[in-house]
Amino acid sequence: MTDGLPPGLAALPPLREVIAQHGLTAKKAFGQNFLFDSNLLDKIARVPGPFSGARVYEVGPGPGGLTRALLRAGAEVTAVEMDIRCLPALAELGEAADGRLTVIEGDAMRIDEPALLGAPAHIVANLPYNVGTALLVRWLTTDPWPPWWRSLSLMFQKEVAERIVAAPGTDAYGRLSVLAQWRSRPRIALSLPPRAFIPPPKVDSAVVHIVPAEAPEGVPVSAIERVTAAAFGQRRKMLRASLKALPGGLEALAASGIDGARRAETLSVDEFVALARCWAAPS
Ligand code: SAM
Repeated sequence: MTDGLPPGLAALPPLREVIAQHGLTAKKAFGQNFLFDSNLLDKIARVPGPFSGARVYEVGPGPGGLTRALLRAGAEVTAVEMDIRCLPALAELGEAADGRLTVIEGDAMRIDEPALLGAPAHIVANLPYNVGTALLVRWLTTDPWPPWWRSLSLMFQKEVAERIVAAPGTDAYGRLSVLAQWRSRPRIALSLPPRAFIPPPKVDSAVVHIVPAEAPEGVPVSAIERVTAAAFGQRRKMLRASLKALPGGLEALAASGIDGARRAETLSVDEFVALARCWAAPS
């Protein structure tokens, strides 16, 4: 061991060399903005808390910068990467990691994660921006609940991170805020400027840390999704107008006791849950 690291990991060439050796120029189509700064990568790997041998599921390891940091932090990593150009570099990292890294080639949107991982895992990812929100929604809408994952530590465009944690009454508050805060306790753990990435994206980024919460009984995911879609679909309108488009929406509004003159962005998450519960209840 060198500085507590297995010798294989300590002897790895710098990431820039790995990228040059394997011709891993960043491709826009894969949403590739790479991180090189090992201090920053170690900070991201520490967001979920101490790992002590815990399983981590990483989406999009690319050349393996964050993967190295996760391995340095003591995690057992299963990583899914879509760009086959990265696989030889990741295979070298796997060899250096003494069996603590498994790499799967594939599209994270199509993986049966509980079957792949076999045990609860922390999800950590510098996500491709083009699939980040879709993956988050997939992980937040999974059933049964509590979910198969233990925590999510995910990189987003800052504007998306702000929507996830937004409070009622703000411009950023919307469907994603309600869904995330219904099922979890999201917080922004780190903010990163464009210059942290190569190539730099046009916008700031942030890592959001999400721990699952107890979801209230008797509220199906589909009810939360349908009610918030209708309410925020016309967010400047009063609820009695926006919920007209949802079959049974006005009846649910009346049953919930929420004032139909209010706008979607003024409702708390608890009020959305109450509305969704009334909408889902058999009439
Ligand atoms: N983790 C690396 C880092 O932090 O430097 C790379 C991050 S880069 C923003 C996103 C990575 O996700 C790329 O390697 C890309 O090829 C991969 N990727 C994009 N779409 C994917 C998908 N649907 N499933 C799995 N990996 C994907």
